Amino acid sequence: MAVRRPGFYNQIMLPDKPREECGVFGIYAPGCDVAKLTYYGLYALQHRGQESAGVAVANGDKVQLYKGMGLVAEVFAGDQLDGLQGHLAIGHVRYSTTGASHPVNAQPLLFRYVGGMLGLAHNGNLTNVTELRSMLMATGAVFQSSTDSEVIVNIIARSAQNGLEEGLVKSMIDIKGAYSLVIITENKLVAVRDPNGFRPLCLGSLGDGYVIASESCALDTVGAKFIRDLQPGEIVVISDKGLESIQVLKPRKRAHCIFEYIYFARPDSIIDGYNVNKVRREMGRVLANEYPVEADVVIPVPDSGTAAARGYAEASGIPFEEGLMKNRYIGRTFIQPNQQIRDLGVRLKLNPVREVLNGKRVVMVDDSIVRGTTSNKLVAMLRECGVREVHMCLSSPPITNSCYYGIDTSNEKELIAAQKSLEEIRRSIGADGLHYLSLEGLLDIFGEDRNNFCTACFNGSYPIEIAKPKDTGKYSLE
Ligand code: AMP
Repeated sequence: MAVRRPGFYNQIMLPDKPREECGVFGIYAPGCDVAKLTYYGLYALQHRGQESAGVAVANGDKVQLYKGMGLVAEVFAGDQLDGLQGHLAIGHVRYSTTGASHPVNAQPLLFRYVGGMLGLAHNGNLTNVTELRSMLMATGAVFQSSTDSEVIVNIIARSAQNGLEEGLVKSMIDIKGAYSLVIITENKLVAVRDPNGFRPLCLGSLGDGYVIASESCALDTVGAKFIRDLQPGEIVVISDKGLESIQVLKPRKRAHCIFEYIYFARPDSIIDGYNVNKVRREMGRVLANEYPVEADVVIPVPDSGTAAARGYAEASGIPFEEGLMKNRYIGRTFIQPNQQIRDLGVRLKLNPVREVLNGKRVVMVDDSIVRGTTSNKLVAMLRECGVREVHMCLSSPPITNSCYYGIDTSNEKELIAAQKSLEEIRRSIGADGLHYLSLEGLLDIFGEDRNNFCTACFNGSYPIEIAKPKDTGKYSLE
């Protein structure tokens, strides 16, 4: 039986290591049950974070918050939402993959500042957080957690003597890195996207109101109509005066996270003009052209490899089959904090369909290899089912560099492609063939937008500082 950890209202707890990979949601819709809609929005964004969830609602006078550890449905399993009445709300789901998870890092964060109450939910990682925290501490600031989100709140609060908007504009000059934010006060909903547009953030309409979400799938879920993505460097303020957009900083070179398309986002979302499913399918088609093999079936590692496997099958003419069954009730195995549990996790999550596999030459498609745990276990599983050949295809280039902007690609010592050659990886996962999608092939999918992405995890080309390039060499092996 699942252990339910209770939610809490604004408790002060001890810090732990923050790793933000989250989903944010905001709504301004007088006359609607905004708490419930935020709950549904977070449900749609659950894939972006399974560790904690929270909702803050404002009614013109005050902001109320409820948050806790666990899945959205676990945190709000009782009547907590009934106590959250108002006409605007924000919500957050958090994903952390290392260290103990702790309630202190659950969001939204809620504070009092010079202008009243301020709640904030953040997706992304700042790159100058250590510097900013030291500067704030030197002038007497105190922190409950070690999250960079709390640093953002402090920076905003300090600059907001003449109003929140001015505070935000000033803060965006100091804060560096990846941040998609939703902010709530007693009567305003604010959304902010960093000047590079690392993490997604979009705007929709709901009747006379507005909705903000990390991904458009959350707009669909609450019945909102997609209007547009927020521009990099844009602030959107929604209040009883309507919607105001402030283009604070000139957008820098766009650096949308390409890994959102590869793995992180939901296939039904449209992010910065591209449907995730369509992009993934195209990745599979490119894979098939780059790595044509003689095989009997193409199977995906569900769900992350499904769209690319379909693309591979379409382009190659090799039949698509479901060779691995996923237990839908198990969360992402990657999230488990130690290797032994991760190993077991793969078996709990995926089981082979012997009839599809026995005696076959198989192309197995997944989105990526991080540490190599999943592919190693899966290749062994396939062999146990009498598979004759396994060709492992990845719809991403080798991940050789850590991400500092909000995706947990673990540290470089753990990244198998940073440590081993392609041939060594092939041998270590036990496949007959191994092919990673080339970076060129990946970028070609986006045509003239090809320069609008952050590809640091593949080539070490960091859009903001932290440059540490590495040569990954060849891409394919048979
Ligand atoms: P690994 O088993 O460590 O090689 O991880 C690879 C698996 O984790 C693949 O099946 C991916 O779908 C998934 N994955 C890739 N990147 C991430 C990430 N940043 N967070 C969680 N899961 C991931």
